[in-house]
Amino acid sequence: MSLAIDQFTYNQDNYGVLLHDGETGETALIDAGDATAALSALETNGWELTQIWITHHHGDHTAGLQELVAETNAEIFGPAGVAGIEQVMADGGSFDFARLKVEVIATPGHTLDMLNYHLPQEKLVFTGDPLFAMGCGRLFEGDAAMMWASLNRLMALGDDTIIYCGHEYTAANAAFALSVDPDNVALQRRAEAVAELRAAGAPTVPTIMALEKETNPFLRAADTAIRDNLGLPSVPDEDVFAEIRRRKDSF
Ligand code: ZN
Ligand code: FE
Repeated sequence: MSLAIDQFTYNQDNYGVLLHDGETGETALIDAGDATAALSALETNGWELTQIWITHHHGDHTAGLQELVAETNAEIFGPAGVAGIEQVMADGGSFDFARLKVEVIATPGHTLDMLNYHLPQEKLVFTGDPLFAMGCGRLFEGDAAMMWASLNRLMALGDDTIIYCGHEYTAANAAFALSVDPDNVALQRRAEAVAELRAAGAPTVPTIMALEKETNPFLRAADTAIRDNLGLPSVPDEDVFAEIRRRKDSF
């Protein structure tokens, strides 16, 4: 299997991703927020689009879908409720891409329809907006308990899972993470590395699960130092998560 990945930017901070298999020629696009950006990335690579995987209904992930339907022959996978979806996916569903299995994991919280696309053989997951580098999505449609359960689903993927998420929010996420987890040396180091990457105009995405578990405060609700900092030494993890999310909303 010879997978190539092209991550491209659109809007202020969105990432789209093209996944291409050199053997079969199949190409998937993860999210369709900007048709022009996606078509230009396809043309640059000389790839023909065969699948689109939609993570959730927000416009910055779907606004270009109708144009891409018109311009390509791609088969459209995604949640119910998004116009143009041909293969409606839900938690536990799966389909094939280039003879690889793609498993669908639902993680409601940011939206109720949020889907992640997991390629277990390649140790790759495309998350959209529930999990970001050192961050997590805002709770627009679900609540903190729902999002905490969703993040636990993602944490159950292997530590060596490579994570592609929908936004470049990492520098702002690092600043917040340091406010609740200031003594975390791995976090301090990562914040410096992120600052250097952003100063050079380089992406901080993809990330990897092991690093998120070490440095992403939204995955670290069980951590005693964070709990002590928040003054919540003995409440359930989901309540610690809720407090971290609440603080981030007004950071
Ligand atoms: Zn979103
Ligand atoms: Fe988004």
